[in-house]
Amino acid sequence: MMDLDADVLIVGAGFAGSLTALLAQQLGLRPVLVDRGAHPRFVIGESTTPIANLILESFAGRFALPWLTPLATYGSWKRTHPELVCGLKRGFSYFKHEAGRPFVPQADHANELLVAASHGPDDADTHWLRADFDAYLAQQAVAAGVPYFDRTALGPLTERAGGWTVTGERGDEQLTIAATFVVDASGDGGYLARQLALPDARSTLRTWSRGLFGHFVDLPKWEPQYQGLGGVPEDHPFPCDAAALHHVFDGGWMWQLRFDNGVTSAGFSLQSPLPEDVSPADEWRRLMHRLPSVAEPFASAKLISNGGELIRTGRLQRRVGRAAGPNWALLPSAAGFIDALHSTGIAHTLVGIERLAGLWERHWNTPELAAGLAEYDRLFQAEIEFIDAVVAGSFRGFREFTKMVAMTMFYFATAIWSEHRRRSGTDVPRAFLCADDPGLRGALEQAYARLEDSTVSAAALTDFVANAIRPFNLGGLCGAGKQNMYPYLG
Ligand SMILES: Cc1cc2nc3c(=O)[nH]c(=O)nc-3n(C[C@H](O)[C@H](O)[C@H](O)COP(=O)(O)OP(=O)(O)OC[C@H]3O[C@@H](n4cnc5c(N)ncnc54)[C@H](O)[C@@H]3O)c2cc1C
Repeated sequence: MMDLDADVLIVGAGFAGSLTALLAQQLGLRPVLVDRGAHPRFVIGESTTPIANLILESFAGRFALPWLTPLATYGSWKRTHPELVCGLKRGFSYFKHEAGRPFVPQADHANELLVAASHGPDDADTHWLRADFDAYLAQQAVAAGVPYFDRTALGPLTERAGGWTVTGERGDEQLTIAATFVVDASGDGGYLARQLALPDARSTLRTWSRGLFGHFVDLPKWEPQYQGLGGVPEDHPFPCDAAALHHVFDGGWMWQLRFDNGVTSAGFSLQSPLPEDVSPADEWRRLMHRLPSVAEPFASAKLISNGGELIRTGRLQRRVGRAAGPNWALLPSAAGFIDALHSTGIAHTLVGIERLAGLWERHWNTPELAAGLAEYDRLFQAEIEFIDAVVAGSFRGFREFTKMVAMTMFYFATAIWSEHRRRSGTDVPRAFLCADDPGLRGALEQAYARLEDSTVSAAALTDFVANAIRPFNLGGLCGAGKQNMYPYLG
């Protein structure tokens, strides 16, 4: 039997749990990190964004973790950690497909959208091969002295004066952990939601999607295919495969994220109910049949993850009604999730870690911590609602691509604005994507209402959005004459 006395118990050792443990340790607190599984393991959720990487970089300086700096851009990652697999992400690319028909490129790129997020490969973002990246962060936590227990099944969490007690089993070993604060970093594991019987607020979310995905090898790039269909890659602000590549269609979208080791993460986010009588493989084949231009490169691809079986999920959306209390907090990825569209998950989680570490730094062991955690909850709820409205709006626009592009601009405008604020170090928005700005929230709701009104044209919606995002629009978004091609303006 092992007895541990900790300041912070962190449940879940994905990238988020390990980073939280490292920050706690650097603040002089005593963290304990526990996971029911073990590294390395397959995890989905791989594509980062400038906000995510700016936060990583800031952690390096603020919490004296200099080894994080090179992991914040593609160029420095490749130079310093060639052994950790990642992929090059220059930006976001979207291509709209019509069911049953080959993709038809248009001279004005009306069925494409490319938004750059970097000047070139050196300062670009990365796709994280989570098996490598998460294992590395857990190793770093251990190297920094964080007690880490993998393969550990935790029992019920008991509240006691001044904190919590929980027992765990690790093989034949029993452990008891007493901690002042508990952080849920269990992702969709739902640890604190179960232990504290937190209210389930999923029914408040508008987005409905489910996943069908895996890792593939030998998947040819999309660009030659696109060019063969008459597309003009020279018009693109960056190579469209060096991106979070989105193939959108009425009913869902597919992501493709290419890693440097020849593996591509590919999957569908689908709006249709889970078919009871169709296997994941058959559903994949049917989807490919509907998307002939996407299907062609897949003819040579081989599924290598999960023993060669596709992973199919139920509804992806989650939200707890309360994300923090006086001596506990759920990281954003544990408190909620909307969809992989626009890659918000990792950045949102890092914003939560930054916020929590800031509260500990300023208010540990003071009465102000409780008020700070109430604010943590308020901001999380505003953020998940904002992401939900943008993603649900984008989904609604899949049928009419120009409308999707318009709704997407709420994401790009606030993301680029936040990046600029972070780079300049002034007026960094309190909430992820400025989600608690009342004017912006109101405008997003009005845009959503216009989207639902079939009498509102795509041009009218675009005009409305262009006006709504004006205070944040540093990227020349919604610009007439841009033809959906946005070079990096950072
Ligand atoms: C289909 C899909 C695609 C996505 N794509 C993207 C993307 O491209 N970009 C992006 O930014 N985000 C994406 N996301 C979101 C992203 O996956 C999450 O934000 C990210 O994985 C969160 O990391 P984490 O470390 O918090 O949680 P996880 O990676 O889920 O890790 C949680 C850890 O907790 C452990 N655990 C769970 N329950 C318990 C328990 N009871 N006791 C102990 N340990 C426990 C697990 O073993 C695991 O190691 C995607 C999500 C989905 C579902």
